Amino acid sequence: MEKREELYAGKAKSVYATDNPDLLVMHFRNDTSAFDGKKREQLERKGAVNNQFNAFIMEKLQAAGIATHMEKQLSADESLVKRLDMIPVECVVRNIAAGSICRRLGIPEGTELNPPTYELFLKNDALGDPMINESHALSFGWATQEQLETMQKLTFRANEVLRQLFLDGGMLLVDFKLEFGVFHGEVLLADEFSPDGCRLWDRQTREKLDKDRFRQDLGNVVESYEEVGRRLGMTFSYA
Ligand code: ADP
Ligand code: UDP
Repeated sequence: MEKREELYAGKAKSVYATDNPDLLVMHFRNDTSAFDGKKREQLERKGAVNNQFNAFIMEKLQAAGIATHMEKQLSADESLVKRLDMIPVECVVRNIAAGSICRRLGIPEGTELNPPTYELFLKNDALGDPMINESHALSFGWATQEQLETMQKLTFRANEVLRQLFLDGGMLLVDFKLEFGVFHGEVLLADEFSPDGCRLWDRQTREKLDKDRFRQDLGNVVESYEEVGRRLGMTFSYA
């Protein structure tokens, strides 16, 4: 496999073509952003930590029957993935209220959500990723009914698997965001699952161990991501 030209540089990752038109190299950079890119910083080791964290979680999800874009981890901060036509809709499940749902609906942070909520957001930085519903996705052609059903089913299945995985490590999975894409007609889980795109609290103390440490200037951002990994039995390499 040969790495070729950069196709896209997002806020946290860069994507490269390869000599195989069906495969991409995904490079996890140290860039960290929040509030639609308005707050930005470089955090040492973050790219490597998120790449390895994502590879670990994607393997767990794959084993639980969720088809993903992951081919293999290539290095500390790069992975080989299938090249998908991305569906521009972010799927968010919440087990506990935090972040935008608290602001939008006036719910106190920490309120248990039973059953968990499921929300869709349009992936569009310029518009601030507005919340949408299935009818919008259908009318504007962002996804088909069948794709929406698959995305919802896979997102809830991921919640079951990951809630237990984190609980076993003494953590609460508060909420998370998933992105999907289409590969030769099949909906696959894409992008990443890392502490950048979920909320994780210590089960006992409710200490935040995710990107809220960056959003809220709590310090020790990457150190907390590493702690989450350690609690799941991971070891990281930075070479
Ligand atoms: P953003 O675009 O939100 O700034 P990133 O910095 O994470 O995000 O950039 C990664 C980009 O690659 C995202 O736009 C994501 O939707 C896209 N992407 C993720 N997985 C795949 C894939 N398998 N095939 C094609 N594009 C992908
Ligand atoms: N999220 C994400 N990317 C986005 C928006 C949200 O990864 O563009 C994640 C976020 O980290 C959290 C969950 O989705 O784990 C729900 O985010 P929320 O709607 O509360 O928005 P926030 O207040 O985090 O901006």
